Amino acid sequence: MIDERYREDRERRRLGSLTVYSGPTHSGKTKKLEADTERAQRQGRHMQYLSARADPNDLVSQLDPATELVAIDNGQQYDDRLIAVADSLATVYRVDVVLAGWELDVTARPAGPMPELLCTADFALKLDDGVCAQPGCRNLASRTQRFHGVDGTPERFLPVCRRHHTPEPRAQSFQEVWFDEPSGSLDLISGCMFSGKTQELIRRLDQARYAGLAIQAFKPALDDRYAIEAVASHRQLRFPAIAVPDVDAIRRQLHDDTRVVAIDEAQFFGSDLVGLVDELANRGRHVIVAGLELDFLARPFGPMPLLAAYADRLTKLQASCQYPGCGSRQATRTQRLVDGRPAPADAPLVVVGGAATYEARCRHHHRIGASLSDEPAPIAVEDSAEL
Ligand SMILES: [Zn+2]
Ligand SMILES: [Zn+2]
Repeated sequence: MIDERYREDRERRRLGSLTVYSGPTHSGKTKKLEADTERAQRQGRHMQYLSARADPNDLVSQLDPATELVAIDNGQQYDDRLIAVADSLATVYRVDVVLAGWELDVTARPAGPMPELLCTADFALKLDDGVCAQPGCRNLASRTQRFHGVDGTPERFLPVCRRHHTPEPRAQSFQEVWFDEPSGSLDLISGCMFSGKTQELIRRLDQARYAGLAIQAFKPALDDRYAIEAVASHRQLRFPAIAVPDVDAIRRQLHDDTRVVAIDEAQFFGSDLVGLVDELANRGRHVIVAGLELDFLARPFGPMPLLAAYADRLTKLQASCQYPGCGSRQATRTQRLVDGRPAPADAPLVVVGGAATYEARCRHHHRIGASLSDEPAPIAVEDSAEL
């Protein structure tokens, strides 16, 4: 339950948020964390470093009532309970939580709760200022490579691109490796509804089209709003797309000469999408994926956490909160309303057509059916609400 000490002034004073910094070794995650805490201290805000790897719930018990910003480093070392604890610190205790960690371990496997945290965060940044450590490579470093220690020297960890990463530890020196195909990449565009994901996807596809690259775009067949066989945003922007029932159908329809592969509404595909897009990126394709990262109950949606972890670049978009009078530009939740009321927790995950409407909400105004009583009538929503 909410501690009475926190409730009163925090309700009036401020709202909490969750910021997540991830990236490979030497990408500057901890520096970003420190920069945020230093800024808070300059502003006279009370901040606290919290650490309790044995039990994430102990983070809450360490919380000083005066604290306004909490820093948590090495998020990958916690278990999945950290997801609920971080949300509770931001939503219930209303502190700003800044969390840093590896989203992939040295073998490039998802690390601890970090993939889900990239989805539940209000702001998530995959740091990409690192360039691959392989001499001559100019790709973005998004993986951590482990090197054997030799003759008593300790093992080393360096940031490398997906092309130059091996799950096994490597010898200390880089050997020259030549590849027939140019290097590929995986970009993820994520956010809640009305955050402009599809618009951003179409903008990038237009750029690729102007550059003369061969493009193929896909979307799940169940999403039949606005256009058949086109990726379409709420603002009527369109890009030709192939509607497919599943991931195998994408694989079958891909042409050999396609350089750019786009996938919209990725949350509706199965987890086998992750393997396909990672493989395509490794084989030199530029893959751009857009999707809804949280479902209407604010739970990570389908393959989105793993896509966030494996992505070389993550673009997380926010919308404006549509709750009457809120005005926050930090909406990251999608509210499903049925007859103007929040949908209950036992409603089906996917509703195509029908009476449900959707709004973008910030974490403080996202509601689940149980708290029907304090829900005001929804305001009319125009397309212009989209950022
Ligand atoms: Zn490289
Ligand atoms: Zn709000």
